[in-house]
Formats: sequence, structure tokens, C-alpha cells
Amino acid sequence: MTLAPHKKAKALKPSSRRPAKELCSECGLCDTHYIHYVKEACAFIHQQIPALEEQTHGRSRDLDNSDDVYFGVNQGMTAARKIEPIAGAQWTGIVSTIAIQMLESGKVEGVVCVQNTEEDRFQPKPIIARSREEILAARVNKPTLSPNLSVLEQVEQSGMKRLLVIGVGCQIQALRAVEKQLGLEKLYVLGTPCTDNVTRAGLQTFLETTSRSPETVVYYEFMQDFQVHFKHEDGSTELVPFFGLKTNKLKDVFAPSCLSCFDYVNSLADLVVGYMGAPFGWQWIVVRNDRGQEMLDLVDEQIETQPVMSAGDRKNAVQQSIPAYDKAVTLPMWAAKLMGVVIEKIGPKGLEYARFSIDSHFTRNYLYVKRNHPEKLDQHVPPHAKQIVSQYKLPD
Ligand code: FAD
Ligand code: SF4
Ligand code: SF4
Repeated sequence: MTLAPHKKAKALKPSSRRPAKELCSECGLCDTHYIHYVKEACAFIHQQIPALEEQTHGRSRDLDNSDDVYFGVNQGMTAARKIEPIAGAQWTGIVSTIAIQMLESGKVEGVVCVQNTEEDRFQPKPIIARSREEILAARVNKPTLSPNLSVLEQVEQSGMKRLLVIGVGCQIQALRAVEKQLGLEKLYVLGTPCTDNVTRAGLQTFLETTSRSPETVVYYEFMQDFQVHFKHEDGSTELVPFFGLKTNKLKDVFAPSCLSCFDYVNSLADLVVGYMGAPFGWQWIVVRNDRGQEMLDLVDEQIETQPVMSAGDRKNAVQQSIPAYDKAVTLPMWAAKLMGVVIEKIGPKGLEYARFSIDSHFTRNYLYVKRNHPEKLDQHVPPHAKQIVSQYKLPD
């Protein structure tokens, strides 16, 4: 991929500070002078996943290989958990642990990650962490759009040459597109999967429509048991079945960027740490290249692992959920609970659950782009996503 040199790039008028307009995911690039590259770099203006895979991993996805199509270029996957989990981390804290090891081993001089503001536990505050304490203070998801790349100028000013960036797919696509302009000697990227993100205002609506006590929620996750798990300040857990979510109210909550996103699995990170391809309670790890393996090796003695597994068949459940979501059907709570129990007993597990989640989101997002941005559909949907969506019958 070629980018015009910085000095030749055209200045953008202040009125176009977010050229992706309503599709902007606030990745932070446009808060820096790297905005000059936005038309090439923005995930919502110029989808270029295969070219950037080639640049980053030495090859793009093999579309004849189902694991590549679903999970991206990889050297292997595993399920893992920390032997001693980090209290207050999103899962067991593998991401924070790798970041600490990268810093303390001297492989990097700083880590781009996201803390929260003092006033609001869900308001993201991107930083360049230079100590174990600063990395730990960034643990747990800020389940809102986060301008992680807004600190890129500070990286340049600091003179840092070796950097670790933690981020989600849209942030990492823009980062990869400007990587060569950053003047770094070494860049490591530790990604998480990401879907259904929201603005801070959207998050409030989600919490208020879904949780019994929105103001005390400290953490939530859409888990493999088909329930949303809310953890409250007093340590209690509240479970809400997916099928009982008030989809009629939630349809407009997710950010337009996230309803147009086809990089759920963070294709351009070196190493991806999520949960959805692993058994309940474990984390799911995808090693994309040698830099990813190098990062994982650093925490070898702090984690236990087991091979990834796959069971069940997602296809009918996905096909049936398409019109239900489209018509914003909400099941009564008792029916939703029953359906959740049945699906958990007989439904997709491990990698098949991950495929279920990818299929459900890609079909929904494909319809969203087709209906709201038809002129973008062909260029914006990457080849692997087109292949996934083509397995299903979609409404117009
Ligand atoms: P921790 O050690 O707690 O560290 C979390 C790290 O995430 C921190 O370093 C922090 O800098 C970073 N972070 C927090 N919020 C953001 C943000 N908004 N943007 C960028 N970086 C952030 N995994 C799945 O398998 N399926 C999903 O559908 C899924 N959705 C996700 C949605 C969002 C918005 C996010 C941020 C993550 C999602 N993940 C998903 C990843 C998963 O929830 C965990 O973050 C991951 O498994 C790491 O857990 P951990 O305990 O190792 O992380
Ligand atoms: Fe700029 Fe990022 Fe928004 Fe695209 S998503 S317009 S690069 S801030
Ligand atoms: Fe970015 Fe996609 Fe996550 Fe939205 S769902 S924040 S667009 S990676």
C-alpha cells in the first residue's frame, strides 16, 4: 500500500475533521496531524483489509480456508486463562499482563491503552503507559468508542522508537495504514475482538433499558451462555438473556460505525485476545504472526492453556435470528430465558459459537450498509465478509 508523503498531503478544512461523517468510530486519528492521511487510512472511507494483511502478516486471508475466512490470518489459536487472574480485569487480564511484560522486559518503551476519566468509569481516556501501574489502571473494557489513536502525536514528540498499541479493529486498521509514517523502529499490536460498540450516550440508554441498576454497573459482557452478565459495585452479578433484550429500543443504540463494521476479529493485530472462541471462563487467543507469538511467549508461565474446540451447528440459529432482529422482535422474559437454556444445552460451542456471533453480526451489518449506504456496499464489505454473508438468505 502506498501513501503520499506527509508534506505533500492536502490540508483538510476544519469542517471536515471527521471525513467519515456519521460512520466515524472516533478512532482518534483525526485528532492528530495524521488526519492528512485520513482518506487512505480511515476504515470507513477506504476498506483495505487484504492489502494491510499482506503488509502486516506477509499474506492475506486464504478464502479457501474456513478458519482464515472467519478468524483471519493466523499461526494458531488456543484457549487460555491466567493462573492468577488480575482482579478487576475484563476477563483474566491476559492483555494487561502481556503489556506489563512487554514494558518491563524492555521490548517497548510505552504502551498505548485506555484508562477512564476520574468522573466517569466508562468515559475513555487514551494514554501512553510507561509503568505497570498505568497499564493496570487501563484494565477492563471501556465499552464505548475510544479515540485511542489521539495519542499518536505524543508518541512522536516523546521520541519513542519501540511501541505497543492495544486496540480494536477500526483503530488498528487506521494505525496500520499510517504505521510507516510514525518513525518507529518496532511496533507491536495487541488487539481485542470488538462488536456492538456505542457512544457514551448510547451506553447510558443500553444500561437504562437493560440493567436493573444502571448506575452501579462496573462491567458487562455478552457471554457465550447467551446472556449479558452485568457486574455491580457490590460484587453481585445480574444475568439478562440475549433473547430478552429490548431490541426495539436497542436498535438505534449501536453506533453507525459498528453497524457497518466487518472487522470483528481484529484482522491486523499481531495477537488477538478475546473470549468468544473459548469455553466459558477462558480467553481465546489468535496468534497472527511472529510478533504475536513473541508477545504470547512472554506470559507462558503465567497462563494455563487448552486446545480450542468446536461443537454444534450455528447455521439454523443464525438464519432464524435474521428476520427476528430485522423486525425488532423481543421475546417475553420467560420465553427468552427458556430459549437461552435450550440453546446453551444444544447450541454452538467454542469456535462454532464464535462463528455464530460473526455470522449474526455480519448479516445484520451487511443489511445496514446495503440499506443506509448502498453506494459503499461493494468496496466497504471485505471479501471474507461477503463470503460469510453469502451463506444466508437475507431480506431486502
Ligand atoms: P484487560 O487486562 O482487562 O485489558 C483490557 C484492555 O482493553 C486494556 O488494555 C484497555 O486499554 C483496552 N480497552 C478497553 N476499552 C477499550 C476500547 N473501548 N477500545 C480499545 N481498547 C480498549 N471479545 C470477544 O471475544 N467478543 C466480543 O464480542 C468482544 N467485544 C468487545 C467489545 C469492546 C468494546 C472491547 C473493548 C472488547 C471486546 N472484546 C470482545 C474483548 C474482551 O471483552 C476482552 O477485552 C479481552 O478478552 C481482554 O480481556 P483481558 O481480561 O485480558 O483484558
Ligand atoms: Fe477519522 Fe478515525 Fe473517524 Fe475515520 S474513524 S473519520 S480516521 S476519527
Ligand atoms: Fe470499531 Fe468495529 Fe469495534 Fe465499532 S465494532 S468500535 S467500528 S472495531
